[in-house]
Amino acid sequence: MTHVFPRHTRARPPRAARGDGAYIIDETGKRYLDGSGGAAVSCLGHSDPDVTQAIKDQADRIAFAHTGFFTSEPAERLADRLIAHAPQGIERVYFVSGGSEAVEAALKLARQYFLEKGEPSRTRFIARRQSYHGNTLGALGTGGNMWRREPFAPLMVETSHIAPCYEYRGREAGETPEDYGLRVADELEAELRRVGPETVIGFVAEPVVGATLGAVPSVPGYFRRIREICDRHGILLILDEVMCGMGRTGTLFACEQDGVRPDIVTIAKGLGAGYQPIGAMLCSGEIYAAIEGGSGFFQHGHTYIGHPVACAAADVVVEKLTTGGMTARAARMGEVLGEALTARFGQHPHIGDIRGRGMFRGLELVEDRESKTPFDPSRGINKRIKAAAFEAGLICYPMGGTIDGRQGDHVLLAPPFILTDDQVGELV
Ligand code: PLP
Repeated sequence: MTHVFPRHTRARPPRAARGDGAYIIDETGKRYLDGSGGAAVSCLGHSDPDVTQAIKDQADRIAFAHTGFFTSEPAERLADRLIAHAPQGIERVYFVSGGSEAVEAALKLARQYFLEKGEPSRTRFIARRQSYHGNTLGALGTGGNMWRREPFAPLMVETSHIAPCYEYRGREAGETPEDYGLRVADELEAELRRVGPETVIGFVAEPVVGATLGAVPSVPGYFRRIREICDRHGILLILDEVMCGMGRTGTLFACEQDGVRPDIVTIAKGLGAGYQPIGAMLCSGEIYAAIEGGSGFFQHGHTYIGHPVACAAADVVVEKLTTGGMTARAARMGEVLGEALTARFGQHPHIGDIRGRGMFRGLELVEDRESKTPFDPSRGINKRIKAAAFEAGLICYPMGGTIDGRQGDHVLLAPPFILTDDQVGELV
């Protein structure tokens, strides 16, 4: 008996005892290959000696319990390291404690930017259907995942949702991927005209969709057109890289591969690599200057901004991802994983689609591949696959995103970048 309030109150998962690289070992000694990296968190694996040492060193070094009224050396070092590798124009880092809070802070900063500029009429966002941006109310508002958001809809920020860029389902016969991408991006233009661009703060999207459909990249050109439309109407482009960022897709920031420059970008999961709760919101120099030259005060304070132990851990993570070559490894092993999955495609008639970039790969499971008919949701296919894989000592991440108005079954694979060729074989 425990007094912990679990998220699923009717199912108790096994108790984890320890981690060992790409494996988690439960209290009975059973080993599980971590095919999901937690929830796309564990980029370096489970017992990275450098990150663990940095946490110990920093804990030894600090003689204070809370730094709310100070900055700290690890926070400044981490911010400098992130900015050195950030997309063009991104100049400041605001630390938070996780992904939802990073998105929450981004929405507030975007609104405050326009208040500082004397544009209070901008009160709403545009985002995409089938998206997930976190579980706090602002993040749920921009999220387009009906299952999660509907019960709380009356409490949320006003957001309208347009189609995601999902080539496998959305492309019309004879349409090139590029034309499809431009057509879907132009939905943003149409929505801006419908609601009035002067009422809109920004457009929020994940460069590679994660938590609802399992690793869906956009087609080339889509985000460049989105950027043009944002610029034309003076709205901000907010990219949520909480899941796809920090090397997971093979570049430190996923948007690098889309050739797009965000005004604000959020990161979390891989930033702490699972060792410490941490997230960050990065913004352009222009947005920062508006706050600095205006009220001089960003209205999103919280107790643990830039906690030195979390920042010391994340600094080693980002060092390993950049100069340590771990992002390049994610790109290389991601190719191996992608090829292994594709080789299996023909053997499994119920795999409708395989997609993704780097160590961020998704499978869609269908009743019939030709017609792309999803399984009946009552069969709970993805949950059964998760259970069967767990039984066999493999962790994967089931997802139930909606496509064409119908619930589908998807599985996300987001393993640690340290995976070996043999472990890729074990995974697929
Ligand atoms: N944004 C995206 C894209 C996510 O995938 C998630 C979590 O899955 C979040 C935000 C929320 O992050 P957290 O669970 O750390 O609050």
